[in-house]
Amino acid sequence: RGSAVMREHLMKILIIGDGNVGKSSFVNRYVNGRFSQSYKMTMGVDFSLKVLQWSERDKVRLQLWDIAGQERFISMTRIYYRGAVGCVVIFDVADSTSFLSCRLWKQDLDLKTMLPNGQPLPCILLANKCDLSQRAVSADNIDKFSRANGFVTWMETSVKNNRNVEEAMGYIHTEVVVVF
Ligand code: GDP
Repeated sequence: RGSAVMREHLMKILIIGDGNVGKSSFVNRYVNGRFSQSYKMTMGVDFSLKVLQWSERDKVRLQLWDIAGQERFISMTRIYYRGAVGCVVIFDVADSTSFLSCRLWKQDLDLKTMLPNGQPLPCILLANKCDLSQRAVSADNIDKFSRANGFVTWMETSVKNNRNVEEAMGYIHTEVVVVF
């Protein structure tokens, strides 16, 4: 009887969007199960790791790359995008500028990335801070925008209330093309 050999794979997912929309909080919630109210502006690129049991034989080391310290959209270098297999674009529902920036973030992504099979990276759009009552963007608007810009889907999230964080990452995992 052969012993089961575990295989480990690396999976790089990008977390992009304007500053202050909740990217670091999202990663922190997903990876560490925590939320902290304090605003911490990190500079550069952070990456966090989470190990997932993908199947009986496969472990995935999930790398979440969070661009930090970018107040507004800036074009990223190809090095940052290299090797990524999926992407999460986040905006703040109470901040319409951060919503408008999503178009630029998505365009930059599509310009600089492509899966080995020639397809664009699966990318999910997250309308974060949906716990806030003052909405700057309507669901109808987000829905149209999401379709027009080639997102696989969009979801409302509240990292604060732990709403749809696991679900969003779960969705991305099902969309990611895994070639083990
Ligand atoms: P980043 O610059 O995109 O990484 O944003 P941060 O993760 O640093 O979050 C910016 C601020 O928004 C912090 O004060 C967070 O506590 C707050 N924040 C993040 N997610 C939520 C949320 O779902 N609801 C509310 N009300 N605040 C949030």
